[in-house]
Amino acid sequence: MTADFSAGTGRYPADAPASEALFARARALVPGGVNSPVRAFRAVGGTPRFMVRGEGPWLYDADDRRYVDLVSSWGPLILGHAHPEVVEAVRSAAGRGTSFGAPTPGEVELAAEIVDRTPVEQVRLVNSGTEATMSAIRLARGFTGRTKIIKFSGCYHGHSDGLLAAAGSGVATLGLPDSPGVTGAAAGDTIVLPYNDVAAVEAAFAAEGPHVAAIITEAAAGNMGVVAPRDGFNQQLARIAHAHGALLIVDEVMTGFRVSRSGWHGLDPSDADLWTYGKVMGGGLPAAAFGGRAEIMERLAPAGPVYQAGTLSGNPLACAAGLATLRLADDALYRTLDATAATVGKLAADALAAAGVPHRLSYAGNMFSVFFTDADVADYDSARTQDVPAFKAFFHSMLADGVYLPPSAFEAWFVSTAIDDAALERIAGALPAAASAAAEASAATAATAAGHGG
Ligand SMILES: *Cc1c(COP(=O)(O)O)cnc(C)c1O
Repeated sequence: MTADFSAGTGRYPADAPASEALFARARALVPGGVNSPVRAFRAVGGTPRFMVRGEGPWLYDADDRRYVDLVSSWGPLILGHAHPEVVEAVRSAAGRGTSFGAPTPGEVELAAEIVDRTPVEQVRLVNSGTEATMSAIRLARGFTGRTKIIKFSGCYHGHSDGLLAAAGSGVATLGLPDSPGVTGAAAGDTIVLPYNDVAAVEAAFAAEGPHVAAIITEAAAGNMGVVAPRDGFNQQLARIAHAHGALLIVDEVMTGFRVSRSGWHGLDPSDADLWTYGKVMGGGLPAAAFGGRAEIMERLAPAGPVYQAGTLSGNPLACAAGLATLRLADDALYRTLDATAATVGKLAADALAAAGVPHRLSYAGNMFSVFFTDADVADYDSARTQDVPAFKAFFHSMLADGVYLPPSAFEAWFVSTAIDDAALERIAGALPAAASAAAEASAATAATAAGHGG
């Protein structure tokens, strides 16, 4: 049996012996003890929980504690953990062999599913969102014969060299300025502008227009916390790019197949040229894609000269998990996700309001985050007005009460259709203490600030 608040305190203790032992061992073997930085809990302090099992809305850690999961593997798990149809699809695919290095029917089916749901005419399957955006940029440069790209501060498009400039997600969380190892040449071809600022885009094109291959933007920003594009922003980007002979790449790696059947495009269409997908389309296995008009996509090898390849691309297990997930992702599923996101967000906002904690609830479809600030958040600078110590206190209180939030104030909260009444009750039960902890932390921050000022 899993320990549910077995310490008798009604909460999980702050220490987690099994996770601590695993983390000590991991740190000797893996840099920082993790294979992706934000997992290390550096932004919130404490020991990351090592997870051993997931079931529906619940995650179980190595100390046999269970948490309602509001991370959902950073987005992919719209159906929750170990959905029977997804598990069966993977099991059955594995029984037929794990990889062939040759074309397979599943890839064609997954490509057809994506083309059917989105504006893209052709897609190329890859293994990660990083590969998808990196390859889309190469294709945009190959197609236009130009060098520069425009990205927005706080938007994260994976960890390829040219896209790490002023990135969100772990780069934001860890406060890294830019990464060592990225050459001046790679960073120098990237123009970084404030998000939601059309005038800045116009000005950049006035100065550099003939050299710009593409603008890349998150369909709705979700890696500086959730910041929706202003009305018409994405379409204005398309218009400006096209007026200057450049392309627009809309990165739907996070939003794709999470916020609607066709991703952000279903809520806020734009005339982009290329789109990137990932996360949900792999159903929890590594799969991602980029796609667009056939005229552009056919510049890719072997149809055209722009090279791109992958030993495990279109992997049969990943395609099976992705297809099983997408086939369950109909309009009714999106209505459920929307309703659950609205419920969880309102519970959090009500608890914070009752405790007098300044906050902004920010949605893009059913992705949302809670900013611990009074300021309206429209870009990375306003996102950074947050009271991070208040978030840390909030996070740890929720964890102690069995709710697993993203371990950073700059990440989205992700719901799944598996969130049921028991999970909602757990969340509602945990929120008042977490809101009080946040209120105390923010009072302490204010007192310290006042002390330094005087
Ligand atoms: C997660 C993410 C990526 C990177 O995907 P990986 O699979 O982690 O490489 C790229 N773009 C966006 C918008 C993302 O949210």
